[in-house]
Amino acid sequence: MDVIHSVREMQARALEWLRAGRRTALVPTMGALHRGHVTLIERAKQLGDPVVLSIFVNPTQFGPNEDFGAYPRTLEADCEAARAAGTDVVFAPSPAEIYPAGYQAQVELEGMAAPLCGPWRPGHFRGVATVVTKLFLITLPRVAVFGWKDAQQFILLRRMAADLNIPVELVGVETIREADGLAMSSRNKYLTPEQRAAAPALYRGLKALATAAESGERDARSLIALAKREVEREPLIRLEYLDMVSIGRLEPLLTLERGNTLIALAARVGQARLIDNVRL
Ligand code: AMP
Repeated sequence: MDVIHSVREMQARALEWLRAGRRTALVPTMGALHRGHVTLIERAKQLGDPVVLSIFVNPTQFGPNEDFGAYPRTLEADCEAARAAGTDVVFAPSPAEIYPAGYQAQVELEGMAAPLCGPWRPGHFRGVATVVTKLFLITLPRVAVFGWKDAQQFILLRRMAADLNIPVELVGVETIREADGLAMSSRNKYLTPEQRAAAPALYRGLKALATAAESGERDARSLIALAKREVEREPLIRLEYLDMVSIGRLEPLLTLERGNTLIALAARVGQARLIDNVRL
């Protein structure tokens, strides 16, 4: 497995692969790899060859008061995990390599960045869309693997690739969870033992909603209220939002639409901002 830090070198390698008729699979990450990321790499191996894992803590997707500085950076351990999972190339550029002096271009989506995390993280999805476009153009993948854990991100990037005619297929992998239901996240490292014990209430709320939906409740307000009650029983959790939107367009739903409903939440638990979701 090679570790490449330079954009020029990565892009030259990607062009060689393309000329040789190979089907590159890309897994974009910010590192601090856990079993969720490893599952993405394993899926990428089924879908393409070679597999490129990018590791880049992207400064432009963090707000001024967010955790860019504190975000865990564990490149050596990440490379070991990537190698063990069968990655061919780790692409780990520096911020200056991706955004050299004078950098100006941005990619922005008109509507899908507005709901859910949009108001809580101004500029976040512009940063995500821009860096992922750049990663697509640097690594030239035919397929890219993302987690449904970041559902708004995945839906928005799929839209972006279609809108911009980028010849890449986006594949989503279901959220990988700890035994108690907590979605795996690099940010779980911020939790104290007490907060870690409280955090599974997020998924319990989503599960309670899903159970009520299975029993026939379809009214969004009732379903959301029920999930919030379950989450808010845990005093260490401060919910930012818990919303029900369509998967296709991320528009608010008044009643559940089977096969097209995303219930997503974000919450503060101590220093950590955690997100989770279910699809019905
Ligand atoms: P991150 O490093 O957190 O930016 O995540 C990189 C990719 O891994 C994104 O596509 C995430 O959606 C995905 N991912 C993160 N956590 C999980 C998880 N618990 N299960 C599945 N995919 C995940």
